[in-house]
Amino acid sequence: MPTVRSLSLLVSLLILSLVSGACAVPSVTPIQQTPSIPWPSAWPSPFPAPAPAPAPPSSSNRPLLFPLIGPQAWQAEVRLVIQELVSNLSPENAAKVRNIPLVVDPNQGDVNAFAGCDDQGSPFIAATEGLLEAIDAISQTQANDDLYGTRTYDQYTSTVLPRLAQGKGSSAALPLGILPFTTALNPTRLSHAHELFDEIVAFTFGHELSHHYLGHTGCANGQASAGGPNPAALGVMLTRVLPGLNQPNEIAADSAGCLNTMDSGRSRRPKYVWTERGGLTLLDFFARLERASGLSPLNPVGFLLSHPNPAIRIPIVKAVAQTWRFQHPGQ
Ligand SMILES: [Zn+2]
Repeated sequence: MPTVRSLSLLVSLLILSLVSGACAVPSVTPIQQTPSIPWPSAWPSPFPAPAPAPAPPSSSNRPLLFPLIGPQAWQAEVRLVIQELVSNLSPENAAKVRNIPLVVDPNQGDVNAFAGCDDQGSPFIAATEGLLEAIDAISQTQANDDLYGTRTYDQYTSTVLPRLAQGKGSSAALPLGILPFTTALNPTRLSHAHELFDEIVAFTFGHELSHHYLGHTGCANGQASAGGPNPAALGVMLTRVLPGLNQPNEIAADSAGCLNTMDSGRSRRPKYVWTERGGLTLLDFFARLERASGLSPLNPVGFLLSHPNPAIRIPIVKAVAQTWRFQHPGQ
């Protein structure tokens, strides 16, 4: 958890980055052996497509991970990542959120996640299946781009986001034909996609977890899990539990979620180390989705209505990661 000193440093860095536009992501540590994506350097400029990343060294010594295929595997993986995030919180915060259930709304047409309290006052974290489909597709394409210098993430977003933005039951799932058939089943690509899936999930659900332990929802006090609400009721609950955006709480959740991800990432060595890449990747996706849809009360994408504009969140995540590295030199 950020201390007062680290928060003041964070604010200073954030202001510095907003004023100077100096938001470059530090290069990935040698241990990571995974190329960073050159994210946009100015705020609030549009977000250009990431350039193809160079191929990582072929001598990567990370173990191959099994492929994550289908909703059941994704949901199980999200629960494992949440456990890992909780285990890297302070004992006080971990005690508040250790038993909070994940509830998955089978809605594929919406892309959203949120923290809430059910009718009995028990905390839960919710995600739509559409969000998990999107994280899978982002991970699959970026893994291919990392390894082979392709631009399949660009192809995926330009193909799917205009349809998704119109609603009408479209899905964020990766269409057939985006991944080259020559690389789609490559075990190294599938393993790297698993790594990236976890990294995006870590930021996404680290953010939602923090709404509970930071007291934003007011219902997480370490009680036993009540199992969570019926997924069919989530759509109604979203409008009730989040009647409007609370920008300070959202900034605090982005900061806490990023710090939790960085702390968890460090403790994963020698496995793939999570960084701010997952958060920046998710926010890049939503920046593209926002451009495809435009922000309006009729926007079918719940995430864009329940969270601040990605252009505000990206420099915050970058500044938090810079602060974390300043406080953890050499890591
Ligand atoms: Zn939030």
